[in-house]
Amino acid sequence: MYSTSKQIVPTATKDDEDNTDDLNNHKDLLYYEPDKDHFSKIIADLAEIGKNFYSRGWVLGTSGNFSAIISQQPLRLAITSTGVDKASIMPDNFLEIDDAANVVQGHGYPSKEALMHLAIVRCTNASVVLHTHSVPSTVLSNVYASKCGVTFEGYEMLKGLEGIQTHQQCEWLPILENSQDMIELSQTAATIFREHNYIHGFLLRGHGLYTWGSSIQQAKRHVEILEFLMEVLIRSPQYAYNTIHGTA
Ligand SMILES: [Zn+2]
Repeated sequence: MYSTSKQIVPTATKDDEDNTDDLNNHKDLLYYEPDKDHFSKIIADLAEIGKNFYSRGWVLGTSGNFSAIISQQPLRLAITSTGVDKASIMPDNFLEIDDAANVVQGHGYPSKEALMHLAIVRCTNASVVLHTHSVPSTVLSNVYASKCGVTFEGYEMLKGLEGIQTHQQCEWLPILENSQDMIELSQTAATIFREHNYIHGFLLRGHGLYTWGSSIQQAKRHVEILEFLMEVLIRSPQYAYNTIHGTA
């Protein structure tokens, strides 16, 4: 978990002394200044991840978005500005948003999917949310949509997901119907978290993968593991057989 940004409160004067307790009770709401070094490090790391994911075909065009908590109280996220080509994404392409997805700092606008990022950090212990639009996630989420998810079991790579100790783990990756109504979609995601609090990610049908982590490294690892598992599945002979016979 990242440290939260420092909170700036005014020094109480003698005349203020009687009000000091009251002031401290509300200091998080009254004064906030981001830790600039912390913010710079996070957006540099996220930009690096963007280029890396682009090179692997997971965020082609301007697809995908990434975010990280830079302050818990008040809640603030660093998040990609919309419409940015991930092949050349730079730290300047990140914004700071508040808990309603309003831009607090930076140029441009966040994707409407910022609401999904906020829903995920509220429903999980995640500090970082990564969203990709890969070919495997797009194909699988369509083929398995009628089952509302896909199960991975028996793969050594499952152990790359936080908390999983054995290849025998049965990992459920839910699939949500895609929508352009991100308010409704983020509410649906919140329902999924209540029903499946052990999941490491979910798919939007015909759209892509959302996953998260308590650090940038952990979230990146989850993308790599889940993208690997999805690609293994769609390349497998069993998948081809099931697809042809309608049993996928
Ligand atoms: Zn998307």
